[in-house]
Amino acid sequence: TNQRAYNFSAGPAVLPVPVLEEVRDELLCLPGARSSLLEMSHRDKQFVDILHDAENSLRSLLGIGDDHAVLFLQGGAALQFSMIPANLLRGTGKSAAYLQTGTWGKKAIAEAKKEGDVSIAYDASGSNFDHTPGSGDYNVPDDAAYLYYCSNETIQGVQFQSEPPCPGSVPLVCDASSDFLCRPLDMEKYGILYACAQKNAGPAGVTVVVIKRDLLGIGSDKLPGYLNYKNHADNDSEWNTPPTFAIYVLGKVAKWLANDVGGLDAMEQANRTKASLLYDVIDGSGRFYTGHARPESRSIMNVTFTLPNDDLQSKFISTAAEHDLVNLKGHRSVGGIRASIYNAMPLDGVKALAGFMSDFASKNA
Ligand code: PMP
Repeated sequence: TNQRAYNFSAGPAVLPVPVLEEVRDELLCLPGARSSLLEMSHRDKQFVDILHDAENSLRSLLGIGDDHAVLFLQGGAALQFSMIPANLLRGTGKSAAYLQTGTWGKKAIAEAKKEGDVSIAYDASGSNFDHTPGSGDYNVPDDAAYLYYCSNETIQGVQFQSEPPCPGSVPLVCDASSDFLCRPLDMEKYGILYACAQKNAGPAGVTVVVIKRDLLGIGSDKLPGYLNYKNHADNDSEWNTPPTFAIYVLGKVAKWLANDVGGLDAMEQANRTKASLLYDVIDGSGRFYTGHARPESRSIMNVTFTLPNDDLQSKFISTAAEHDLVNLKGHRSVGGIRASIYNAMPLDGVKALAGFMSDFASKNA
């Protein structure tokens, strides 16, 4: 581990070292099995137990009750852009409402339009996606198919501080890909909450979908089988072969959160502490660093900012790498710097980055 840099990648991203160590220790032969998990049938009782264990860990961390199913799917978060409207919109004659607060919401809207009628209830593109709406800023009709939003826009670093208002008759649908498990949630508010694992919950390959059971029957039987949520729910995520290794690692991450971190309240507190360290440097830099998100919409997962010019930005990235602070380049569509500080990023890594930022500003301002 002494060769590991502090990895600020937006995803796939840093994982907890104790989880990686366990995976390493169990890789050749899973305790109690005569093989690696990688070689084991998904129908093997030992794997089925691992899958149920991962599900139960998520249920207890987030307080997910029996009226929601927890599904482990493939196709990434991107497939959910289509699966959600294919199940909840196609053929209903209704319209689905979307809050467009960043790149990922915009992509989801483009896919949803292929499935049915979509209305953009709120659009933050006019201010370069730097904020989330306030409660009176949009309207959703009572008969909308659902209200969709992305809780944390990974590229812009813009995060909803709490669930957006939604009529009681309308299912709330959330892409939580880059802030899943970063804080406690009231799961009763959600029709669907989904997240690809490779940012805050595990390796690439599995997408968690938490869905109210009363939404399972809306999709038509004529949908391609994989796209119908009901097939996955009826078969315990084994309608076809699930991504076994990713589920196994995700289960370990969930256990790490519960046992080592102390649950999601403690995780949120640690995340807020980490994010403040960076935002304080930005705010105290006399405009050497400019944050992208408005302060009230700032993400505690992806901290985005720019420097006075492109040359300084390149120098920042290369000098940071010399200090073992890597993957800080912002997304190509917005430029600048992005420090992703997911759950598994240690406080020491963020302290090292904050110290580097202060030092770099004082030498280059
Ligand atoms: N939604 C959000 C918020 C994301 O950050 C990403 C990945 N960067 C996606 C969706 C797409 O995820 P995937 O690549 O797993 O399809």
